[in-house]
Amino acid sequence: MSRVFNFSAGPATLPEPVLEQVRDEMLDWRGSGMSVMEMSHRDKAFMSIAEEAEADLRKLLNVPDNYKVLFLQGGATGQFAFVPLNLMPEGGSADYVVTGSWGKKAIKEAAKYGTANTAARPADDVFNHIPARADWKLDPGASYVHYTPNETIEGVEFHQVPDVGDVPLVGDFSSTFLSRPVNVAKHGVLYAGAQKNAGPAGLTMVIVRDDLIGNARASTPSIFDYKAVADADSMLNTPPCFSWYVSGLVFKWLLNQGGLEGMAERNQRKAKLLYDYIDSEPFYSNPVAPADRSWMNVTFTMANPELDKPFIEGATKAGMPGLKGHRSVGGMRASIYNAMPEAGVQSLVDYMKEFVRQHG
Ligand SMILES: *Cc1c(COP(=O)(O)O)cnc(C)c1O
Repeated sequence: MSRVFNFSAGPATLPEPVLEQVRDEMLDWRGSGMSVMEMSHRDKAFMSIAEEAEADLRKLLNVPDNYKVLFLQGGATGQFAFVPLNLMPEGGSADYVVTGSWGKKAIKEAAKYGTANTAARPADDVFNHIPARADWKLDPGASYVHYTPNETIEGVEFHQVPDVGDVPLVGDFSSTFLSRPVNVAKHGVLYAGAQKNAGPAGLTMVIVRDDLIGNARASTPSIFDYKAVADADSMLNTPPCFSWYVSGLVFKWLLNQGGLEGMAERNQRKAKLLYDYIDSEPFYSNPVAPADRSWMNVTFTMANPELDKPFIEGATKAGMPGLKGHRSVGGMRASIYNAMPEAGVQSLVDYMKEFVRQHG
């Protein structure tokens, strides 16, 4: 058996020690005589898994006591609708800062439920930078301000939490979740699908401030009403038990890696290795403003797009699959989440150098 360096944007690479532990516990979870997949979510064994995962996640992110942590289904895409249903009253409005493809989807969905204002968005949707904060048009009467801390497709990342005053800030953290420390208290809601950087698909985590819970519209499905699920400790119905368990193992792994400070240091180093090479080699280019480049998703193109296919196929053959850019933007994208070792990034840079030698 040989494992590849998997550069897929999501579902994505997971830490090997976590996969090994899952394998070892697969048939008999700690003397229970069954797999976590087979356990009742009301069973004491699963309750202990769930509680420990939440405690570890709180520790990693330093989640203040006045925030609930919810373990749900429906993906980040579900939150595009459930955020307005929970936070925006009938006839209300919210502000959206659109810095890439996911933000575009989020504002489109919110417009079904009220007025979704564009507070900032690059001209002609050229998503290669974050519009200057001074140019944002924020409405102090908005129910919330929504932003996408890391745009997975374009590779554009906020390196600071924006200041939006007293209006609750809502962040779609999917592809940067747990890659570095984040000040939770500057947000009203943080949400993320697990499958980018935290675990297997099927689990969505929502961290929400207490005062924003309990205001959902009457028509909101109960399983997506923050109050109903918070009151039931995320077990109003059957939760995504197995993904919750595996994500919990990832949280433990992160704590053992020095927590999010430790991850941030490694992630920044990995990204720098790749960007420095791209910037030094005219054969490749990255279109994103240097100050706004993502540490998680590094996009790049070559002057001749006909070389994309041989580049990607050759990389896959060399044990580095997942480098094809999103179908909407083309080019290449290296997703270098927490579980991607530095050796994987070095191996990609070596391959890129060799490719220039052959095709440059
Ligand atoms: C992947 C992704 C989504 C969509 O996530 P789903 O869990 O598939 O709904 C939304 N936002 C961002 C930033 C993403 O990276």
